Amino acid sequence: MPTAPGGPRVLLRRLREIMAEPIGAQARLDKIVTLIAANMVAEVCSVYVMRADGALELYATEGLNREAVHLTTMKAGEGLVGLIAKTAEPLSLSDAQSHPAFSYRPETGEEIYHAFLGVPLLRAGNTLGVLVVQNRTYRVYTDEEMEALQTTSMVLAEMLASGELQAIAAQEATALRRPLHQRGVPLADGVGLGHVVLHEPRIVVKNLIAEDVQREVKRLEQAIEETRAAIDELIEHGDVAHHGEHREVLETFRMFAHDQGWLRRMREAVLTGLTAEAAVERVQSDNRARMLRQTDPYLRERLHDLDDLANRVLHRLVGREFVTAQASLPDNAIVVARSMGPAALLEYDRSRLRGLVLEEGGPTSHIAIVARALAIPAVGEVENATALVETGDPIIIDGSVGDVQIRPRADVESAYAAKARLRARRQEQYRKLRDLPAVTKDGIEIGLHLNAGLLVDLPHLAETGAAGVGLFRTELQFMIAERMPSGAAQQKFYSAVLEAVGDRPVTFRTLDIGGDKILPYMKKVEEENPALGWRAIRISLDRPALLRSQIRALLKAAAGRPLKVMFPMVATCAEFARAREIVEREQAYLSHHGHAAPSSIALGAMVEVPSLLFEIGEIARQADFLSVGSNDLMQYLFAADRENRMVAHRFDPLSPPSLRALKLIVDHAAAAGRPVTLCGELGGKPLEAMALIGLGFRELSMAPASVGPVKAMVLKLDAARVSALLERELARPAVESLRPALVEFAERQGVPV
Ligand code: PEP
Ligand code: MG
Repeated sequence: MPTAPGGPRVLLRRLREIMAEPIGAQARLDKIVTLIAANMVAEVCSVYVMRADGALELYATEGLNREAVHLTTMKAGEGLVGLIAKTAEPLSLSDAQSHPAFSYRPETGEEIYHAFLGVPLLRAGNTLGVLVVQNRTYRVYTDEEMEALQTTSMVLAEMLASGELQAIAAQEATALRRPLHQRGVPLADGVGLGHVVLHEPRIVVKNLIAEDVQREVKRLEQAIEETRAAIDELIEHGDVAHHGEHREVLETFRMFAHDQGWLRRMREAVLTGLTAEAAVERVQSDNRARMLRQTDPYLRERLHDLDDLANRVLHRLVGREFVTAQASLPDNAIVVARSMGPAALLEYDRSRLRGLVLEEGGPTSHIAIVARALAIPAVGEVENATALVETGDPIIIDGSVGDVQIRPRADVESAYAAKARLRARRQEQYRKLRDLPAVTKDGIEIGLHLNAGLLVDLPHLAETGAAGVGLFRTELQFMIAERMPSGAAQQKFYSAVLEAVGDRPVTFRTLDIGGDKILPYMKKVEEENPALGWRAIRISLDRPALLRSQIRALLKAAAGRPLKVMFPMVATCAEFARAREIVEREQAYLSHHGHAAPSSIALGAMVEVPSLLFEIGEIARQADFLSVGSNDLMQYLFAADRENRMVAHRFDPLSPPSLRALKLIVDHAAAAGRPVTLCGELGGKPLEAMALIGLGFRELSMAPASVGPVKAMVLKLDAARVSALLERELARPAVESLRPALVEFAERQGVPV
């Protein structure tokens, strides 16, 4: 094996000199490939740069035909170079031409070379290009050589990222600045245009080459030691919940911080001549590339943890505290995070926040609920979002469909700007409807209420002109709290809610936890089918202390004024009766102790479980009011998990089975003389709301953003006509869905849906 003259340290030193020379980018790159070839005793050294279209263009070469530079390109995934870019992994072959991916390019004259070693140019997990060395002989490259080439590739990646190379290829942007379109899951409606703010900013390492290797080894060891101590401190004494980090994650950090393989790789990287921070980043970069390839969610999660840990070490090395809160937020900030707790979101200056992008976070996650409450457009489940962006990058999100446009082209940007303007104009029109009563053309008044759960929701009452709060999800306060709220804290919170709504009615729903709604401080129960499991009123009846403290807080908070409370997931009349008993016992207790009582108390049952449809007459008589939780009712009626994208939209709520079920509920409520509301997502969609009015619903409760569109529909609707249409259509045999008939009706009648 030929020995490299000087090894990686000499190479890095020479590289630093070349980087400092006052020469043009192409000349610098040419010198670099010549240097690497000489240092590694290779006949060929070439640099391929990934262009905006994903193709890899030969940017410089020592050994191949110079005429091929900027002419030879490999399409994305083509050839060995394409393979390295795609997998983001090094590739070492003693006979490249026998590899199935080998793609022969006659203009390069590479047919005489056999041995091949290529490494990706990685930065922050992105592949920016590929660095290759080749030899005529059928030789095997050593691990040290591969390591040296990877270290060199880091310096080159930094050069690419600095934008210097852009000057060479005026016609094409390189991959780092490439526009990207990512698709996630819509979490909160709205279009936001702005610039990236990383929730936990990455450190960009600029000082790559060590002046004194021994000093760098010491710095690395000290930083790791300090990081370990800080993690131990957090685990032993820290207010863990306050940092939004659960013990489990910290334990994983601790494990990684002692992982010998990781430490060895970083130490070796320093010994090749990198600074301590460059060594951490070098190893982190490999890790990120692995993360991008990893499909197993558990392993990816662990790689993410390791990435977080490396960030902590980097922060120590460059002497900055690990900060999460944003002190100086730019205007039009779009926060990009791997994950975030609701409390962290609330810390941002809302007047500057235009959107939120998360790698995690489903539509029912706490952060999504808070983002909706704050009306901040949000998209979740955007894979590797934090690795794809840099602070300050232009970014656009469309929370209605889940689109994220990173570094958008000008035409894309203007299209979204137009969409945002259109939305704003429409909102303006809805605002004009705010003070009009929601009455149909044939004089039927429809009560439009809000769904809420946090204090930040309540200003929407005045903004939308809603009649009241039809569903107050009390579990949200519990979900965002760090520990179980005390009775006193609950009472204070409910008093604040009642204060905020003023004279308008509010219907509190008792704790609807379990299933996917987990309280961080409560022991998680492992269940095969959480949606069919121990949740909502089932927990309340089995753990009556929890329900009692909530009821007591509600009764006290509502002293002297009407109180409306309803129970989620009631499956039988007997369950409702037991819940009522608990309330009555609390009333008796409070009155015995001289507390003022609410002026009236109404107890309602949510109709969400199909079994109740077969006791609908009884429950209508037994409860003071009914409220249809259509999200759950549809899930259980069609046996289709509302959180499972494969089935959630498989069945149409405007099909006969669900419409008949809904009609059954309205008819029985009317017969028993009980008010009935519908508070699931259905009520907030104009077409569906139109059908509900046709079935006989007169009260709907919905997200704040839906009030305007639904009211606009109501004002143009003839309720008797839509009722007649539904009656006619539901009597016909074998109609799959009434949606087409309803759409056609709305068009004919000029009802905006
Ligand atoms: C419902 O199920 O329709 C409902 C309103 O309750 P949640 O969405 O909170 O389960
Ligand atoms: Mg429900």
